[in-house]
Amino acid sequence: MRLSRYFLPVLKENPAEAQIVSHRLMLRAGMIKQASAGIYSWLPLGFKVLRKIENIIHEEQIRAGHLPMLMPTLQSADLWRESGRYDAYGEEMLRIKDRHDRDMLYTPTAEELITDIFRAHVKSYRDLPLTMYQIQWKFRDEIRPRFGVMRGREFLMKDGYNFDLTKEDALHAYNRHLVSYLRTYERMGLQAIPMRADSGPIGGEDTHEFLVLAETGESEVFYDSAVTDIRLGEREIDYNDKDQCRAVMEEFTSLYARTDETHDEALFNQIPEDRRRSARGIEVGQIFYFGTKYSEPMGATVQGPNGDQIAVHMGSHGIGVSRLVGAIIEASHDDNGIIWPEGVTPFHCGIVNLKQGDAEADAACEKLYAALTAAGLEPLYDDREERAGAKFATMDLIGLPWRITVGPRGLKNGVVELTSRRTGESEELSPEAAVARVA
Ligand code: ATP
Ligand code: MG
Ligand code: MG
Ligand code: MG
Repeated sequence: MRLSRYFLPVLKENPAEAQIVSHRLMLRAGMIKQASAGIYSWLPLGFKVLRKIENIIHEEQIRAGHLPMLMPTLQSADLWRESGRYDAYGEEMLRIKDRHDRDMLYTPTAEELITDIFRAHVKSYRDLPLTMYQIQWKFRDEIRPRFGVMRGREFLMKDGYNFDLTKEDALHAYNRHLVSYLRTYERMGLQAIPMRADSGPIGGEDTHEFLVLAETGESEVFYDSAVTDIRLGEREIDYNDKDQCRAVMEEFTSLYARTDETHDEALFNQIPEDRRRSARGIEVGQIFYFGTKYSEPMGATVQGPNGDQIAVHMGSHGIGVSRLVGAIIEASHDDNGIIWPEGVTPFHCGIVNLKQGDAEADAACEKLYAALTAAGLEPLYDDREERAGAKFATMDLIGLPWRITVGPRGLKNGVVELTSRRTGESEELSPEAAVARVA
């Protein structure tokens, strides 16, 4: 992409309405624009990051054997009356009437809708296990939308639902989700710690939230500092292997790590004192096992091996896709702007031409652009007639992992400058070597 052809409405001033750094940087980098309270348009740069995050989630869900699908954002209230949640859900649900005076709602979560699909089509235990998921917009009329996309009213969520014959199978689905989520967050350069939590309006027995530690987080958390040393890393996971999935779950959830809702002072005090931590965290996902909470009232049963009707065991599993954009920035920035982890960066590499219009510099930039593209990378070429300082500031603000700076002086010696956004270190090398380093 050439910056002269792109839409990147960067702001020079700090927007007054933004209280936290991720919101400030997303506005300044021209990633989003507020449409109304808690509702945002995603401009090209922000949308690109959102798509990268979505893609990682799809890849990891499909790897775990879960099936992508898509449900509508608008639902009829009838299903929610069946489950008993229409009244229970309260003010966060946006209720709408259509022209025939029928009660509709904008989906805050989709347990009812998917259970209805399930009961219409699945009749036998032989069709289990089944896990389907979607990445779709949700609406919750949050009393205090704030912090930009972190607590929006309209927000993008991955929501997945498992249907199993037995509790044991459903707990395997739970563990599979836990492992796939760990992998998902690590690919985004994030450490998200599973913490025992409270189930809230989804209901259920077993639940973990995934929290990214950050001062601006809205949750209060308590944990054993040893949990922050565990990584999934590159290990091979066989998602069909119940024991392996359970072992990973136990490894990540045995040490004390809880949100304030389930915090237990007595248990916490059993941790060696130098490892006791209380901090703040951003909830970027949550997994639930809730048994037959929806299948029973809604009649989602299958015929079991002995011919009897069995209510299926279910769970649901969410990732805050749009919130993750903010969470990643909270975890990875400096005074000059965003520092994108490689996995989610909107472009891989910036090219800064120090002397736009100089035939040699222009030609060198074009050649770099072609070479990076041929290497399967997406460069962003700042081909505007701007001062070098302004170009550097824009690149730092939008946080691409690498910047290649091209100018007549370096070209005389056959070199360009390669700069790492994260370390700030620069080195001079040939254009070919720079491309090889970035690739
Ligand atoms: P919170 O405690 O932050 O209100 P939640 O527990 O109500 O979130 P869940 O029902 O667990 O949310 O939804 C799954 C995920 O969706 C959450 O873990 C979070 O990452 C994301 N999410 C929830 N509410 C919002 C929101 N208002 N804006 C952006 N993301 C959200
Ligand atoms: Mg909530
Ligand atoms: Mg919560
Ligand atoms: Mg939650």
